Amino acid sequence: MNETNIRLKKNFIDKIAGGYPLIEKNAVIDTDKLTHEGMVINLVDNNGKFVAKGYYGKQNKGNGWVLTYNERDRIDYDYFRNEVEKAINLRKEMYDDRETTAFRVFNGEGDNIGGLTIDYYDGYYLINWYSEGIYMFREHIIKALTEITEYKGIYQKKRFSDGGKYIDEDDFVTGERADFPIIIKENGINFAVYLNEGAMVGFFIDQRDVRNMIKEKYAKDKNVLNTFSYTGAFSVFAAKGGAKKTTSVDLANRSRKKTIEQFIINNINPDEQDIIVEDVFKYFKYAVKKRLLFDLVILDPPSFAKSKKHIFSASKDYTNLLKEAILITEKSGIIIASTNCSSFDMKRFKEFVDKAFHETNTEYNIVEEFYLPTDFKINTKYKESNYLKVLFIKKS
Ligand code: SAH
Repeated sequence: MNETNIRLKKNFIDKIAGGYPLIEKNAVIDTDKLTHEGMVINLVDNNGKFVAKGYYGKQNKGNGWVLTYNERDRIDYDYFRNEVEKAINLRKEMYDDRETTAFRVFNGEGDNIGGLTIDYYDGYYLINWYSEGIYMFREHIIKALTEITEYKGIYQKKRFSDGGKYIDEDDFVTGERADFPIIIKENGINFAVYLNEGAMVGFFIDQRDVRNMIKEKYAKDKNVLNTFSYTGAFSVFAAKGGAKKTTSVDLANRSRKKTIEQFIINNINPDEQDIIVEDVFKYFKYAVKKRLLFDLVILDPPSFAKSKKHIFSASKDYTNLLKEAILITEKSGIIIASTNCSSFDMKRFKEFVDKAFHETNTEYNIVEEFYLPTDFKINTKYKESNYLKVLFIKKS
């Protein structure tokens, strides 16, 4: 395959040579030579000396990813097969676990190829392509997956706008078509997953450890409020852990039907749970007015969301969100604060927490702390990939 030399700007050379995998938009001199997505590029210094090899693919984050630091590596079928095989071998034990049948098999730059993730849902694989560039390697990657694994079917999502170019290419790739929903298990609890309904499949795998902790240790006999509840995953685990009652609040109409579905497939009577379709901020006002108090309040907002009345940005507004939650949490109750925002780290997140409690004159202590589970392998040189931060905070 042809490879093109692309000069790096001086102040990016050490960063890339030191292992930073993202080819930032402003990192290269020869932008005019980046002519087609999926081209293999050799990043070089001003004297033409090799620094790293990668591919060109536009993502909001940058212009592509480094794949290797070995100039002789060819980016061919064997290369992709080797990387996919390594990733699968690292997760061998997860395949054997009958109680948990959904996990991440390949985690982008954490598994050496940025822009690509592969998830496993009880025999079905879902590939996410985050740029047209990585999509250009689809034949190799799909072939590798089909040769290495035993699969029922493979689905894909193109997480880039293709201007209609690949419109005839369905979400279904190969194998047998699933009859949706697929019912997967997570620590013995059922979950309905749809691989054919747009970007979100109904279930965020990365909160597995948090859900389990809620069920095992924090839900029994508790009155639980789950905000930004989506399909109610946290509510289901709380109910299974013996919660007195759960209240799920989400703005999206679809959330009611989806949450009822999750309760039913776990033999929980949805009539005994509250499912409220409403703006969370409006619900907080209602709860304060009605003097409702909860033992356990879960906050899992998106990094950024716009509703009719509100723009919520996690990096700006998390402190205020917490302050609202503190008001409706019982004394000695727990607030679970979660964020998937990659623009701040755990240290900063704890500062938001501290500020919220300080400004409401409330004492607190942090009792649990979670990051991504191990199948979401992270690249230690790329801190942004460690996006998930979850704190269990006990109100005094
Ligand atoms: N906690 C969920 C995932 C949350 S996804 C889980 O564990 O599965 C984010 C959700 O926030 C989406 O379902 C979206 O509809 C909802 N949302 C965004 N802004 C909102 C608001 N202002 N009020 C209520 N829900 C909101």
